[in-house]
Amino acid sequence: MPATKFTCPGGNDIPIFQCLNSCPNSQRCMFLPTLRAVAESLDRKIAEPTVTELLAGTRETYLKKTSDYAVDPVQQLYAIHGSAVHTIHEDKTDGNMLSEERLSDEVTSGKFDLYGQIIDLSDKTLGDYKVTSSYKLMRALGYYKVDVPTGEVYKTGLRKGQPKTKKEWRTDGVRHLLDWAIQLNYYRILLEERGFKVDRMEIQAMCRDYSLRIAAERNITKPVYIIHINKISDHWVKCYMAAKAKKLKEALANGYMPPICRTKERWHNRKCSDYCAVVDNCPYGRMVKQSAKKVA
Ligand code: SF4
Ligand code: SF4
Repeated sequence: MPATKFTCPGGNDIPIFQCLNSCPNSQRCMFLPTLRAVAESLDRKIAEPTVTELLAGTRETYLKKTSDYAVDPVQQLYAIHGSAVHTIHEDKTDGNMLSEERLSDEVTSGKFDLYGQIIDLSDKTLGDYKVTSSYKLMRALGYYKVDVPTGEVYKTGLRKGQPKTKKEWRTDGVRHLLDWAIQLNYYRILLEERGFKVDRMEIQAMCRDYSLRIAAERNITKPVYIIHINKISDHWVKCYMAAKAKKLKEALANGYMPPICRTKERWHNRKCSDYCAVVDNCPYGRMVKQSAKKVA
């Protein structure tokens, strides 16, 4: 079941078709074509769970498929940024590339962005566009800060005699990009099962808040990064996705709500309190949201 309502800036919900017909407020919160684009992006035409749906928390995907929910159209703008990036690349491929093909197997389906000669002379590269935040990029690139001695010591105060330090960036940390890696590896498997060998997997990640100071504070100094994705064993990827698909299928068939999303899937509760579209239909999410409100 796709989202059926928009949440207006004042907090009230309105059926999407009513909003598109006529806004009851003194002025629309966005231009009508933008609202139409947001509505279109929510109108999913694929019934079976896709690779990206399976990568999300099972409870979140279950609720999105079974319940009526409202989305804030302003928050959905990020999703249409991603679609816009695909649109500007349309018709820019050539005979050495394939693009935007949906492939499926008995578990799920996924649409890869690009395959072929897209970054060097190898015609076997799988590529994916992402539009993301500087925070996600910093973590995906494995950037972290360490304290480095300056050679000086504190001369007064509680820390007198102790060495002074300054923060320095390091770029060899753990790369937090497992979801991206599983997604691309699944596309790789789907392609290879059809005889298209994949030699490399790369993500072109565009930073949507690159011009803000917060991006520089996270060591994000370029608007776009190419991020290499390592191969994960076919067996592991297939087992992981099959297990998630099974859990979702069982919950849908029996009509029971799956356990709460895993800690990583719910971004340590940050998603529940601020970003999950189905939070109002999830008892755990409602509890997290209420406690966050009390603290604020
Ligand atoms: S245009 Fe914005 S404010 Fe008006 S009904 Fe739609 S969502 Fe609400
Ligand atoms: S509110 Fe949190 S736990 Fe509930 S579906 Fe959303 S992400 Fe999952």
